Amino acid sequence: MTERAGSAHEWLARAAAWMPETRAFIDGGFVSFAGATRFETIAPRDGSVLALIEDGGAPAVDAAVAAARAAFDDGRWRRMPPRQRAEIMRRFADLVLEHRDELALAEPLDVGKPIAEASTTDVNETAEAIRWYADAIDKVHDEVLSSPEHALLTVTREPMGVIGAIVPWNFSIIIAAWKFAPALATGNSVVLKPSELSTLPALILARLAAEAGIPDGVFNVVPGLGDSVGSALARHPDVDKIAFTGSTATARRVVMDAAGSNMKAVSIEAGGKSPHVVFDDVEDWERLVDTIAGSIFYNAGQACTAGSRVLVHESVHERLVADLVAKAASWMPGDPLAAATQMGAIASRRQLDGMLAKLDANRSGAVVTGGRAVAPVAGGFYLEPTIIDGVDTAAPIAQEEVFGPVLTVSTFRDEGEALRLANDTVYGLAAGVWTGSLSRAHRFTRELRAGIVWANDFNALGIDRPFGGVKGTGAGRDKGVQALTQYTTTKTSWVDFRGA
Ligand code: NAD
Repeated sequence: MTERAGSAHEWLARAAAWMPETRAFIDGGFVSFAGATRFETIAPRDGSVLALIEDGGAPAVDAAVAAARAAFDDGRWRRMPPRQRAEIMRRFADLVLEHRDELALAEPLDVGKPIAEASTTDVNETAEAIRWYADAIDKVHDEVLSSPEHALLTVTREPMGVIGAIVPWNFSIIIAAWKFAPALATGNSVVLKPSELSTLPALILARLAAEAGIPDGVFNVVPGLGDSVGSALARHPDVDKIAFTGSTATARRVVMDAAGSNMKAVSIEAGGKSPHVVFDDVEDWERLVDTIAGSIFYNAGQACTAGSRVLVHESVHERLVADLVAKAASWMPGDPLAAATQMGAIASRRQLDGMLAKLDANRSGAVVTGGRAVAPVAGGFYLEPTIIDGVDTAAPIAQEEVFGPVLTVSTFRDEGEALRLANDTVYGLAAGVWTGSLSRAHRFTRELRAGIVWANDFNALGIDRPFGGVKGTGAGRDKGVQALTQYTTTKTSWVDFRGA
């Protein structure tokens, strides 16, 4: 796929001719397993069956971990000169960009993401993550501690070994790259388990990694269901670390499986219920409205940092709600394959049903816009951009992650109440404060209990900035130089020269 497509019609023609790979990628090739089961991956755009994916279960995980271990032990990757490893990873990043259309097409088909977003943000950020960690390889140094004259005391960072990366579907290739890129950069082997909703892009990445020259066994992808492949990876006695992103409920099981097996290291990036705290002295009102709407309706609200709770000072509450309702109209869902679509489909029937059930069960506040399933493409799964005003902050709709285009609005009277309400959920991923007061902005960025906070902005993210949460969101950090520490362990070495 080299020629750029434009209309939904052209993309559909490409999709019809497309024969995606559906088997595990292990030790440098696509393989089938005797006794593997198959599950359907459904295109949420129109509800059709997109592909049958092979789930090789525990035997596939065993084979992938064995290949990864062999590659790690013989040092074919970790012992390669760092600059050579960096060159291969840069080639991998280039190949991601060269296969932009193929990767981009997989996203709207698999999870209903708008093609315009997939072919820019998703592809660009994936390539950027791979390149950024390639570039970091020879710029992170070990330490020499102060040593007596007769000895040398060093602290070196060493790769952990075999990394199991378990990822969700909402930014499937970006989040996968946030994990495998620093893991590969530091010399580990990787077994990537994509979400069952978004297997196809991960298998394309596997092919490109091999084409770039990543040695066999170093980068493996095992598709399958969470209860089979995911849990077999988390329980595997020869995996050194699980890097997990997904829901808090699954995260709990992964932590227990890790503890119950070989006490492997675990990093967790789980759910969020991130607030916008809006004061009455906001200077750029238009940007505030645009940013709040974008933070909850972008990717149909299926973003871990979605700004899903607005806490607004009572004096500007009415104005904000009126402006957000007007803005929501520009986020009506459309065909993910149409170039102009801003908000696409909900990733699965199950996700959509879960959102509708939460809306149905909600007894707090009033829906001021949206709230209904719609079908811009017949048979597909879509939800209108939805705003619920006057919500009691203790209500389930304001406490639980909906993971859809649903915004709750609640009011506060003073700064103390605003801070208390902002911090009052089990989650702690992201938070934003909007105010013209620099001192208040500073107080809030200090006191908000979240891994990422913004003043007068939201979702200002970049590969150089550590990403992760506190409290029920977990304790891992993707991105930034900090991610390199997530895939390495320190070794303290003392060499005494007196006997030499
Ligand atoms: P999920 O928890 O259902 O699945 C995540 C991954 O875990 C998938 O690959 C799944 O197959 C696997 N899995 C399921 N059961 C498993 C088990 N028993 N053992 C091991 N693995 C298992 O989450 P999802 O629906 O794919 O993603 C949405 C969730 O991800 C939301 O809660 C969202 O907030 C969260 N998320 C968090 C971040 C972050 O950085 N904090 C980023 C993106 C998404």
